[in-house]
Amino acid sequence: MSKELDDQYCVTCPKCGRVSQKTYVTDSKIKCSRCGYHYYVHMGNGVSVIMEASRMEGGKPHENLLAYVRALESLISVGCAAT
Ligand SMILES: [Zn+2]
Repeated sequence: MSKELDDQYCVTCPKCGRVSQKTYVTDSKIKCSRCGYHYYVHMGNGVSVIMEASRMEGGKPHENLLAYVRALESLISVGCAAT
């Protein structure tokens, strides 16, 4: 198997499990082509978040989530440096 394929993540629908994409990094809303479920995916730097797309509406949920993700990423990089 090639390294490229091993390193990719499969993004799957949280409702029916259909694989929607294989990627290293993503920050997008996806509508499942099988069951129609609308969900949000963020992946990158060792952090993955999947939630209902409707939770990203109103206020600044996306900005808040990205701030949370950046905090997680900094924790991960600190953890890696310590070992
Ligand atoms: Zn689905």
